[in-house]
Amino acid sequence: WAKADGKARWTLFDPERNAHRMTRQALASTLRPAIERGEFALEYQPLVGMEDGRVRGVEALVRWNHPQFGVLTPNRFIGLAEEDGSIVPLGRWVLATACRQARRWQLEHPDEPPLFVSVNVAVRQVWDSDLVSDVAEILAETGLAPHLLQLELTESAVMGSAGRPLQALQDLSDMGVHIAIDDFGTGYSNLAYLSRLPVSVLKLDGSFVRGFQYENDKSDDADGDGAGAVSPNPADEVVVEAMIQLAHRLGLTVTAECVETSAQAARLRRIGCDTGQGWLYSRPVPPDRISGMLAVRV
Ligand code: C2E
Ligand code: MG
Ligand code: MG
Ligand code: MG
Repeated sequence: WAKADGKARWTLFDPERNAHRMTRQALASTLRPAIERGEFALEYQPLVGMEDGRVRGVEALVRWNHPQFGVLTPNRFIGLAEEDGSIVPLGRWVLATACRQARRWQLEHPDEPPLFVSVNVAVRQVWDSDLVSDVAEILAETGLAPHLLQLELTESAVMGSAGRPLQALQDLSDMGVHIAIDDFGTGYSNLAYLSRLPVSVLKLDGSFVRGFQYENDKSDDADGDGAGAVSPNPADEVVVEAMIQLAHRLGLTVTAECVETSAQAARLRRIGCDTGQGWLYSRPVPPDRISGMLAVRV
């Protein structure tokens, strides 16, 4: 606490909050130079076919190897990068790096079906940058086929998208690039509306998969955090099954996030989910670790 006007006041002097604010400022001010200094790296997490357990593609997830704070996960800096606009150059770096890596795997493993790479795209990249020409340029430079690139956008990024963003999605889709809706089910979009957009994949938010766990295998709580308590809705499995059926009838494929147990995977397979992603199969890993997963079931 700080003294002011001779009176003790509990103000502004929460050291923890102050430290937090200073860290935020320190991070924000160094985002742009950090891109130039090469402090960012991508990890890749397998997207696995539920039927055969084969890796079909990977999601690229950015990390910041910060000289002072160590390895930072995206929830520490993506919000800041969106606020100050550095998400645009950072996002371009992520796209180029992910496409180059996907092409490299393809050339290194000519006998395996090529992996697709899925890249997270922030709203601001669709609004403030020339996403379409950036993507076209990066595909041309890296030699990656457009159908091997998937872009993940959140519901809020595409809902009510009209004009420029919708045109961008349409142009990307016309190029052959796949568009996925990330964290589906956490917002308010409806499937009928989404199906009229150039979207081909739904990524079901992890909270749905956790919902099954609560109801059916609470004992099988992999990380012991009682995560099931987040969504104690006994109807979840029925809801997810109906969503998958509707998505399929609308021509979309479905990926489930946060698959942590084999019981969850079995249930997802039974209700028709196409692809799974989660710790059951693999955590996000550096690119050299992906090569070893290509020819095997994970
Ligand atoms: P997301 O796109 O929904 O990515 C999935 C997140 O879930 C990743 O967290 C991943 O490590 C985590 N995850 C994967 N499997 C499991 C599991 O079985 N259980 C649990 N509990 N978690 C799992 P991460 O890497 O910390 O990324 C967080 C978010 O940051 C991402 O969520 C995405 O929205 C954003 N992000 C990551 N990379 C980028 C990027 O290059 N650009 C942009 N704009 N956003 C990014
Ligand atoms: Mg994602
Ligand atoms: Mg997601
Ligand atoms: Mg998520």
